[in-house]
Order: sequence, then C-alpha cells, then structure tokens
Amino acid sequence: MRKFIIMGIQGSGKGTQAKLLADDLDLEHFSVGDIFRWNVQHHTKLGAQVKRIMASGSLVGDDMVESVVRDCLSNHDWNFGFVIDGFPRNARQAEFFLESYDIDGVINLHLPDEEVIHRVLARRLCSRCGLDYNLIAHRPLRPDTCDVCQGDLVARADDNPEALAVRLADYHEETKPLIAIFERKEFVATIDATRSVEDVQASIRQRFALVPRP
Ligand SMILES: [Zn+2]
Repeated sequence: MRKFIIMGIQGSGKGTQAKLLADDLDLEHFSVGDIFRWNVQHHTKLGAQVKRIMASGSLVGDDMVESVVRDCLSNHDWNFGFVIDGFPRNARQAEFFLESYDIDGVINLHLPDEEVIHRVLARRLCSRCGLDYNLIAHRPLRPDTCDVCQGDLVARADDNPEALAVRLADYHEETKPLIAIFERKEFVATIDATRSVEDVQASIRQRFALVPRP
C-alpha cells in the first residue's frame, strides 16, 4: 500500500500531479479543497457551513478540515493507498497524522515565487460561463474572449500582485514548520515544479520508485 502527502503552492500543478499519480496507481486522491467545493456545489449541510464561513471572510477551521479528512479515510476504500492534498495544515495535525498512518513520503512541489506570480497572474476566467483560461498554457482563440460562449475574460479579483504577495507569505509561514516536521519523520521529495507536467510526474515516480500496476 502506498500513502502520500502532496504539497505545493497554488500554480504548482499539485492537483494535476496528484490526479495523474492516483489514476495510474489505483490510489484514492483526497483533496480537501475539492471535497469542500463538491459540498458547496451540491448544497449539503457541510457545504452550507463552508459557504457561511467563506461569506464572513474567514477560512474553514482546522476542526472542520480534520473531521472531513477523518470521514474520508474511514468511508473510502483505499486498498492500494492514497494521496492526500490540503492536509495536514499545522504541526499538531501533522504529528497526529504521521503517527496514525504509515506514510511512504511527502511530495513537495517546489515553485519559486517569481514563477508562482507569473503563472497566477496569467489566469483568466470567463465572466459569463466561468470557464478557466491561462494566457500561458491555455490561451483563448480570440484575445479576452471565451471560446465557448464569447463572454469577456477577466482576472479573478484576488489574482492581483498585492493579494498574491500575502498568499505567498502565508504559504511559506504555514509550510515551513510542516516541512520541518515531515523531514524529521519521513522522506520528503522536493520536486522542481517549473518543468512540464510529464517531467514533474516522471520525477515523482522516480523518487519513490513507483511503477503502475499491470
Ligand atoms: Zn464562457
């Protein structure tokens, strides 16, 4: 059985890499962010709680994240293992998690701040249908126009240099102590995430000697 934690700042391609790994190796991919989003979209009780918290401008608390992860791990079959994304978030959760689950390692996608800024500021969103674009990786056919519905493409309100600088600082402050704990207890593979999706995936597999099941 294979159990991994994946870490990486926004723009690092963490979700894509976790999904590729999970699909090929029959692992469950637990993304705390995706679980919350699913619950909001499907109007569950949890979704309503999350929506209220977000509307008040706060972040979802550690307790709620912890209970979601606990439910996930007890309700799903993960016979071949899992890759978890968005958890643990702090030192206490990390200590507890590492004691409860025998983790094979931590995949730490590394992207320099300049590259995060470059990638995130290239993101666009259709103001009409919500489709995502990226001026580097996924350009629209006509500038500033949605390919599907011809709506105007706009940047997200919080994708501006000032807000991004705050998010970068927060990420580093939260992650540094976590990485220190992981490094003390587990194998941490820091992977250069500036390269192509395929190259990053190949590096992850190489570092953990992972071979897809036949
Ligand atoms: Zn559109």
